[in-house]
Amino acid sequence: MKTMTCNQLGGACNEEFHANTFDEIAEISKNHGTEKFQMGDEQHLKAMNKMMELMKSPDAMNDWFESKRKEFDSLTED
Ligand SMILES: [Zn+2]
Repeated sequence: MKTMTCNQLGGACNEEFHANTFDEIAEISKNHGTEKFQMGDEQHLKAMNKMMELMKSPDAMNDWFESKRKEFDSLTED
């Protein structure tokens, strides 16, 4: 298992996520973000707005995603 924090994945807190693959951790992060968003957490609202901006440009979104994937791949297993 590898560990990344909400902050590292474009979020807004230090909550740690654990997963074996990047796709898995991205999914956990997304669910966490959605949950916080629904709770009306201001920091996560801001973080999500930033991601929405990024998503307007598929290239920028892809670059961001790939850089995070590399970051995940370079991590050592827990
Ligand atoms: Zn968070």
